[in-house]
Amino acid sequence: MALFTRGSVEHVKDAVDMVALVGARTDLRRVGSRFVGLCPFHEERTPSFSVNAEHGLYHCFGCGASGDAISFIRETEGLDFAEAVEHLADRYAVTLEREEEDDRAEESRRRRERLMRLLDRTATFYARYLWESDEARGARDHLATRGLREETLRSFRVGYAPSAWNRVLVAGQRDSYSPEELVAAGVAQRGRQGGYFDRFRARITFPLADAGGRVLGFGARAVRASQKPKYLNSSENELYHKGRHLFGIDHARAAAARAGRVVVVEGYTDVLALHGAGVEEAVAIMGTALTPDQLAELGRAASTVLIALDADASGHEAMLRAARGARERGMELRMVALPEGSDPADLVAAEGRDAFDRLLDLALSVPEFEAERVLSAGDLSSARGRDRALERLRPLVGETPERSVVRDELVRRLADRLEVPASYLAPAGAQGAPSGRSPATPNGRTSGSAAAAPGPARDASAAPRPVPHGAVATPAERGEQAFLSMCLSQPRLGRELLERAEEGHLSERMQPVGRHLREHLDDPLRELPDDEGVAALVTETAMLAESEPSTEPVLRLTFLQLDLRRVERELRRAASDHDFDRHGVLVRERERVRQELDELMGEAD
Ligand SMILES: [Zn+2]
Repeated sequence: MALFTRGSVEHVKDAVDMVALVGARTDLRRVGSRFVGLCPFHEERTPSFSVNAEHGLYHCFGCGASGDAISFIRETEGLDFAEAVEHLADRYAVTLEREEEDDRAEESRRRRERLMRLLDRTATFYARYLWESDEARGARDHLATRGLREETLRSFRVGYAPSAWNRVLVAGQRDSYSPEELVAAGVAQRGRQGGYFDRFRARITFPLADAGGRVLGFGARAVRASQKPKYLNSSENELYHKGRHLFGIDHARAAAARAGRVVVVEGYTDVLALHGAGVEEAVAIMGTALTPDQLAELGRAASTVLIALDADASGHEAMLRAARGARERGMELRMVALPEGSDPADLVAAEGRDAFDRLLDLALSVPEFEAERVLSAGDLSSARGRDRALERLRPLVGETPERSVVRDELVRRLADRLEVPASYLAPAGAQGAPSGRSPATPNGRTSGSAAAAPGPARDASAAPRPVPHGAVATPAERGEQAFLSMCLSQPRLGRELLERAEEGHLSERMQPVGRHLREHLDDPLRELPDDEGVAALVTETAMLAESEPSTEPVLRLTFLQLDLRRVERELRRAASDHDFDRHGVLVRERERVRQELDELMGEAD
């Protein structure tokens, strides 16, 4: 269901000053009718990033990042569509109209907004108290001895909750919040006698914000050794869910998009220390095993996730499971080996950022990392010890993609260390354990051959979670789905482009969706295809068109990008087939597409 009326989404887009919006991230210079600058999405020295102010578009000729104001905010601030629309509406003072909500939905949205306002005020109160009160001197000293910079602490709104029993309670009630609301927001709690009191007292507070920077709860650390527990969080409530949360994600998103990676650490202090040292793409999971929700959030930030957790605390099975989940999403999980007994905060304090960067460079895939652990823990001097190690290593080999160089290299290295033939490391079953979905190749197809392998006995615990029907799995598929949904929301141009789109524009999973839409553009949900998976994808695409309406220029831009990817793919094929005639034709075609992109972005002279 659409959240905002299409009209008000368009008002928001019209209100945006695209040059100012993008200009806040990167310096733009006017060249002809377009604005150019260094791309905020990839590292570069010469500008290949263009902004078309008239149509409100941006496009990078280097990395292919492109879109409109809403996608720019989604990418740089890490928000979803609705959040990005709200963010822009807020910034440009546009009143959003919502599609009619039922009373219940409206009531619950208003309540959430009210509670979030309360949390935000409380965060401001705590932060001021940290810097201004005498009582917080010990807390300030504690933070300083951990080497945390005031600038970082202020930007993360770290604060201090006074030791009094009711400061927040009284202030909240003065602002017309009921005790029930204060409890629901997680800042007060009810005592055994029925009275209410502040939940956080005499503690350093860390606001737990979502990707958009909205405070949903607090983490709080004791200052005195006698205080128990040492860490106290908001309890699970209607806003805050521990297993979904990543501390620092609001600050890390932009840096992660630039660096193409996000670093996962254990606690608040690690994030703050790394941030202060310039590693801004760091987030903390705060004592949970990595959950699927957190993984999804990380995937929105970057496709490479570096895990810098205490190896034993993170749990072997949990990490292998997370790695499989990551592969299904087209992400890669890598493990950083921390020196024993040290955490990232200590490390950057003692040895600086470079030392930490070196560790990140040495990060291993999860199976490689686990294999190293087996080797270093095992007794490799006895035959029995080596057999035991083999037994534990085989399933790890099975976690690497079949018939891949990664697997080959791992097997060779392990066979060397154990002094056994490589065949001893073949995973259980004829062709090896299922290896999950292989990462997407650049052409958006999955290169895995797992489905074609003769069916080995499947170990249920190792089996990859199937991609749910209708869920796009790779970034390439997401891009194609965005294109198809835009064709639905802009049917005039959409029809023309769907006609122009050949099979080669879409990956195998999206091709039947494209075919269906070509015939049912006016009413995509009529005569849904029999194939359940395809029908689910069509439905999802139609819903996307409803909830995330688009404009013709963005649709054109998106199509040209698919077109460029298709031509480049065919060029590679022609080159490897030594088909020089075809190659020549395609080179001219690529020139034509680039020129169209160029024209769309405006005159540059
Ligand atoms: Zn770029």
